[in-house]
Amino acid sequence: MLEEYKKKRDFSKTPEPSENKSQKLGQGLIYSIQEHHASHLHYDLRLEENGVLKSWAITKIPMNKQGIKRLAVQTEDHPLSYYNFEGEIPEGEYGAGTVHMWDLGTYILKEKKENLIKIEIKGKMLYGTFILVKLRSDPKNWLFFKS
Ligand code: MN
Repeated sequence: MLEEYKKKRDFSKTPEPSENKSQKLGQGLIYSIQEHHASHLHYDLRLEENGVLKSWAITKIPMNKQGIKRLAVQTEDHPLSYYNFEGEIPEGEYGAGTVHMWDLGTYILKEKKENLIKIEIKGKMLYGTFILVKLRSDPKNWLFFKS
């Protein structure tokens, strides 16, 4: 599950974690969002599932408000230890730029279908029921919004 993650990175150059260490944040599964100042500023949503972090790059700042939908582009699975990574990915490396925490907490899975994930987020910036819906146009493209 992490092959794509590892293939994209040179761990002698990037400070990002190379190992998948198990992490526990109390009750519930890991939820976090990292603000990533790469070529385009985006917000990386991480959700723990089966020992990895499922990941989406949200193209605009997420809102804790109903009715505001954000495009969330699914990216490669990340190791669990990535959930609180902060730092500088060097120039020339994949995802070059600064990463810092935007939100951190846990989530509970409410419903999962092929095209829909319903979760209850317990973070500081985001809390309540959120939905990810896969778009038909491109399987990597999802919409993320508060329900
Ligand atoms: Mn990113």
